[in-house]
Amino acid sequence: MLETMKYPIRARALNAHSYAHGPVIYWMNREMRVHDNWALLEAYQFAQEHAVPFAIVFNLMPSFLTATNHPQDRMYAWMKEGLKIVHAEAHALGIPFYVLEGDAVTNLSPFIQHHGVGAVFTDFNPLRVMRSMKQKVADQVTIPVVEVDAHNIVPWFVASDKQEWGAYTLRPKIHRLLPNYLIPYPSLKPNDITPLAVPYTAPTWLLSPASLVPAKDALQAFIQTRLPRYEERNNPNVEATSRLSAYFHFGFLSTQTVALAVKASGIPSESFLEEMIVRKELADNFCAYNPHYDSFEGFPDWAKKTLNLHRHDPREYRYDKATLAQGKTHDDAWNAAQLQMVKTGYMHGYMRMYWAKKILEWTASPEEALAIANELNDTYELDGRDPNGYTGTAWAIGGVHDRPWQERPIFGMIRFMNFQGLKRKFDLGLYIRTWTGLQIVK
Ligand SMILES: Cc1cc2nc3c(=O)[nH]c(=O)nc-3n(C[C@H](O)[C@H](O)[C@H](O)COP(=O)(O)OP(=O)(O)OC[C@H]3O[C@@H](n4cnc5c(N)ncnc54)[C@H](O)[C@@H]3O)c2cc1C
Repeated sequence: MLETMKYPIRARALNAHSYAHGPVIYWMNREMRVHDNWALLEAYQFAQEHAVPFAIVFNLMPSFLTATNHPQDRMYAWMKEGLKIVHAEAHALGIPFYVLEGDAVTNLSPFIQHHGVGAVFTDFNPLRVMRSMKQKVADQVTIPVVEVDAHNIVPWFVASDKQEWGAYTLRPKIHRLLPNYLIPYPSLKPNDITPLAVPYTAPTWLLSPASLVPAKDALQAFIQTRLPRYEERNNPNVEATSRLSAYFHFGFLSTQTVALAVKASGIPSESFLEEMIVRKELADNFCAYNPHYDSFEGFPDWAKKTLNLHRHDPREYRYDKATLAQGKTHDDAWNAAQLQMVKTGYMHGYMRMYWAKKILEWTASPEEALAIANELNDTYELDGRDPNGYTGTAWAIGGVHDRPWQERPIFGMIRFMNFQGLKRKFDLGLYIRTWTGLQIVK
């Protein structure tokens, strides 16, 4: 089945069944967008080739890691806004968009049977919970289930067949393959699509207009106002970074679209593309190849060794999760970062590094530090529950993709950051005043 695919290889079979007949569905998960989506394009192309109906299916789960389908939940609220846009765009093209609610493994098989579906295409997410869910569905059904990496510009399994040591080992592999993969997307045309035969009524929440800034507008705003200032990206007081991470996390926008637009703008963008392509794809590589991406076990050997040596070092400050969550430590910079995240769903990238490292310094063990950092990150960041998050905390606390530095208490040879260092980099007082409201800063 994979031999018939038209575009450079991005797909892998999740079971050994071959296609016989029947409609094709794209089971949308991580990539919540209609346009510029290789998983949708592959599925649609396959349906066209076999002259069979096509539809998109999304299964809204009652919860996902720390997020829950509750009106007060920031993540679900945002995701549902994005799904409204998916619905409107699919509708404009005549593609039916089915939203199922509940457990995906329970829902998918009956849906497939009811509609006589002949092939399922889905997208790729390296997180354990998503991989096992898709595999369960693939094992349950008797039709092919194909997974397409529509998140990474160079598909994770093409870029590398193993966990990479760091950006320096992945970078040359990605750059060698980019000319084949960083290509314009084909567009979808309305008249080519035959919908599934069974009629369907969408849930009412899906029909109201979305309040979200559309992905393309967010991208234009970045290119016009922030990309020219990207060199100031390590200053949390300046709007210099893209603020696109949550769009990428929910798949509202593809990094390939952004890379093409940024290149076309003619604005110097090397450091931005390094973050958005190499660093981001390195995070998927880490989570895809390291099943312990969110535990101490997943750290490199040198880091485990040095952290073990310093495991019993005395801690001057100790905080529990609740105190940290409220941003009530002795450190105003840390509290400001925590409050920025709690209030807005976004902590500046430079502060994320400091924030996670201080949790290592102030908790009983690296295991506890990593668990708390991941839980707070997942609970409050709009872009949380993402490979980038697990890789970011594993970098800060466990030396993943980093190297040994000068040895010191608690951290051992893990890279250290301190308050004085922040002060030297930017106007820390301004940052603290902005997020804590404090006027006098220590
Ligand atoms: C402790 C810690 C936790 C983090 N948690 C998350 C998280 O939950 N979700 C998340 O998406 N990112 C996370 N990051 C990575 C990074 O801080 C954010 O992606 C970035 O700050 C988002 O802001 P932006 O979109 O304006 O970034 P920009 O500077 O505009 O970068 C563009 C894009 O590149 C990618 N990117 C940038 N920096 C990194 C990086 N260090 N690693 C991987 N990809 C990167 C992101 O997709 C980002 O949107 C974390 C980093 C650390 C150190």
